[in-house]
Amino acid sequence: MFIFHSIQGYHAALQDGKTTCEEAVLFYLEKIENTKHLNAFVSIYAKETLESAKILDQNRKSGKQTGKLHGVVIGIKDVIAYKDHPLTASSGILKNFISIYNATAVEYLLQEEAIIIGHLNCDEFAMGSTNENSVYGDVLNALDETRVPGGSSGGSAVAVQAGLCMVSLGSDTGGSVRQPADFCGIVGFKPTYGKISRYGLIAYASSFDQIGIFAKNIPDVNVVLDVISGKDDFDSTYEFLPAKNAEINYNDFKDKKFKIAYFKDALNHPGLDPEINSTLSSFLKRLAEDGHEVHPINFDYLDYIVPAYYVLTTAESSSNLSRFDGVKFGYRSENKNLNLTDFYSESRSKGFGKEVKRRILLGTFVLSAGYFDAYFTKAQQIRKLLIDHTNLIFKDFDVILLPTAPTTAFKIGEKINDPISMYLADIYTVYANLVGIPAISLPLFNHSNGMPFGIQAMTTHFNELYLFQLSEILMQQYKSSENPPL
Ligand code: GLN
Repeated sequence: MFIFHSIQGYHAALQDGKTTCEEAVLFYLEKIENTKHLNAFVSIYAKETLESAKILDQNRKSGKQTGKLHGVVIGIKDVIAYKDHPLTASSGILKNFISIYNATAVEYLLQEEAIIIGHLNCDEFAMGSTNENSVYGDVLNALDETRVPGGSSGGSAVAVQAGLCMVSLGSDTGGSVRQPADFCGIVGFKPTYGKISRYGLIAYASSFDQIGIFAKNIPDVNVVLDVISGKDDFDSTYEFLPAKNAEINYNDFKDKKFKIAYFKDALNHPGLDPEINSTLSSFLKRLAEDGHEVHPINFDYLDYIVPAYYVLTTAESSSNLSRFDGVKFGYRSENKNLNLTDFYSESRSKGFGKEVKRRILLGTFVLSAGYFDAYFTKAQQIRKLLIDHTNLIFKDFDVILLPTAPTTAFKIGEKINDPISMYLADIYTVYANLVGIPAISLPLFNHSNGMPFGIQAMTTHFNELYLFQLSEILMQQYKSSENPPL
């Protein structure tokens, strides 16, 4: 039977003739079919995926050079454009929309011979933390189906968690890759802002958004990042820094020691689950005993980061989402007796879901003339303060460690009627997006409630290889052996 452990292992099996791309695709298609109730996929591209797999098998067998992601089966979040395929941001307003071009990341995946098996469910326009804001309905956490998978990239997380594809892409504006990875017990990585082109990624908050990667191990994240972070003239915020060494060879750096900072206030925060607190505290002690320099530091801004994030992202989203007006594309009101303003209003009221409307209204409010300085300008100032303070921290330390989320996966419905409490649960993830640094969630621990949880590591801009080395050390040396089986 087909088994997947890593891209490298899969490629070795292909070269040795022990498996084929076709066998891999058939395996995943069957598994997706058998786990439909998880609701991870919104579109499945079965026929064309099988055809591509057969072509790749023929090419490889005839001795053609293979791409870096040859036959790698990938799912992508329903906010990433794939030419001639549906793209809806899991929203009613984009129902039936077909993308007319490829996102740059998709273009790069295809160039390296990846197989895109389908689009994955998410919170509408990537707004949410539980995947409960999707027009296609909830996604279930495969480890406990009464719980959410996290969000907004819930489908992308479950697809990797439940083994429905090898790796997946999500988007991370304030934690939407790291938090669902944490809730599902897998690796979730958000690159430095500007590392991967945002061309073809449906915009939520453009100065925060990044495409991110879900996988079960670090080398897989590394190779996918290497492929999708190539140069792009379509995104002016993209920064091209060639990778120094795209290989991750554990033996080359396994004894490396790091200078690690953690925020005292983050661990002492009243919202943090006591068991997560005690596990992380003992883990930090162990790191110090093992020769890493581990220091608690003061960070006085923790309570400002969630408000600053929600002011800035809702402001940006109110502007970004103004293009969905029922005229150019997407859902439009069928009522022919409306004047233009009422037509916009009805199309948008019916097309968007509740959370998206809440954020557009909030964003419009914080940008309005009378409140601009009190909210938007203040939040920008906090963002600047955070960036400056972070630069100071990185003068003395290589790495910041934080929890990924304050609790393990919520029960379905637990927070949906309490948006403030839902927003506050983003306390540990939004920081990296506000300052633009790369961050990764590593599934190291298990809670006594049976759910996994991780730790989040961050480092300086464009220092992803360093982050992956640290991550690989933590995964190899500290990952709990009784991690849930899936
Ligand atoms: N939970 C956060 C929010 O709802 C993160 C979203 C994201 O990263 N796309 O805004």
